[in-house]
Amino acid sequence: MTDATSHPIDEDHLNDECAVFGVFGGTDAGALTALGLHALQHRGQEATGIVSYDGEQFHAHRGNGHVSENFGQQSGAIVERLKGESAIGHNRYSTSGETNLRNVQPLFADFEFGGMAICHNGNLTNAFELRRDLVRRGCLFQSTTDTETIVHLIARGHQSTVPDRIVDALVQVEGAYSLVCLTQDSIIGVRDPYGVRPLVLGRLGDAYILSSETCALDIIGADFVRDVAAGEMVVINDQGVRSLFPFRDQPKRFCIFEYIYFSRPDSIVEGTSVYRARQMIGGELAKESAVDADVIIPVPDSGVPAAIGFADAAKIPFDLGIIRNHYVGRTFIEPTDRVRHLGVKLKHNANRAVVEGKRVILVDDSIVRGTTSTKIVEMMRSAGATEVHMRIASPPTTHSCFYGVDTPEREKLMAARMTVDEMAAVIGVDSLAFISIDGLYRAMGKANGRDSDDPGFCDACFTGDYPIQLIDQDSEHENQQLSLLAAVS
Ligand code: SF4
Repeated sequence: MTDATSHPIDEDHLNDECAVFGVFGGTDAGALTALGLHALQHRGQEATGIVSYDGEQFHAHRGNGHVSENFGQQSGAIVERLKGESAIGHNRYSTSGETNLRNVQPLFADFEFGGMAICHNGNLTNAFELRRDLVRRGCLFQSTTDTETIVHLIARGHQSTVPDRIVDALVQVEGAYSLVCLTQDSIIGVRDPYGVRPLVLGRLGDAYILSSETCALDIIGADFVRDVAAGEMVVINDQGVRSLFPFRDQPKRFCIFEYIYFSRPDSIVEGTSVYRARQMIGGELAKESAVDADVIIPVPDSGVPAAIGFADAAKIPFDLGIIRNHYVGRTFIEPTDRVRHLGVKLKHNANRAVVEGKRVILVDDSIVRGTTSTKIVEMMRSAGATEVHMRIASPPTTHSCFYGVDTPEREKLMAARMTVDEMAAVIGVDSLAFISIDGLYRAMGKANGRDSDDPGFCDACFTGDYPIQLIDQDSEHENQQLSLLAAVS
């Protein structure tokens, strides 16, 4: 039982997932990959790694912490050692409490066809089943990631080409994946048949780039070529780009939460600007749940575009009533509950000049557990707000994600345990409203709202409509993703 003074919950956002990046045919591929990963830091702050190939040898560095700590100026020598004209890299966020270097990607293995590195954004939903079977057949796992399952499946394949080996492995897995692989003569990108996670293709001079998001193309001055399509494999080598569609066609289910929160606002995702999508969602939210107020205040940073859209539609002034300290890391990476609670205070402060004596509408992108919202509302009242209303630019998050986003178990999701009115009472607002699921789809350009026969997006964390079978969750394994065992030191 939760009341206004007891909050076992500590985080209002879903945790991020992972980033993948790759370069083929460019001088300084390792350094370009480090820059790309830097632009994708928001997708995973726990660990990072790069593997390059110089025509004779693979070079690797993996480490805990941020990209700048591993590949920044003070680590310049590391980037210089990542020689070659091809490289891939990964930023990691994992669910396991303790980071273990064995789990930091890219994973690397020597196969009978030569060395190959692999990195993965997503989560396999039958990794436990496959792993159990592989272990019975004698496979020795070196890491605790689901990605290693793919490595073993590739190793056991009998096809004559590397792309065929990868396809043969992937037809055995279920789940969400955007993969980037580095071989001795190619980089290979693959998206799962539902296209849950993003992957784009770019060009920089003669080099080809693969990236989770377009913002990483911008940082290195590369041109966006196109999205890698759902179910597509692109094989990039000296002959150029070869496109294959080796999987059975499936309905497209791109993660709608990428638009709400995960992707950077300056990225173009599946042809739509993330920033514009958030503004449209804010506008639709205002149409559904406007209330008399003096000022619209975004919860920075991810609530800003939606708040601008809301203010525009509601014809209420927008202002920065909360100032964020950008030198404090995201609260969810802090190690203990107590520090996480402190982290919220360290991160945000009320701007009294904007708030005092005002009726305030706070706009945020989502509520997962509730504590951040509670503290921000308290902060508004202490700064002199006369009314505090909260508007959320996503429907209530009622279900866990099993496709590569770290979510708490369902019973820890505030919206799974409470009605909206109960949530409002706990958070301490005068009113609380979420955008409706149809409103969200209207904002994404579907005039008639959500088509339950073919929604076109994954929205399972709002609807429970999981597009890809949850094999491990349906068996005896519960709520496991990204790691298969508890990591040991
Ligand atoms: Fe995205 Fe939610 Fe689907 Fe996970 S369940 S892929 S977060 S929409």
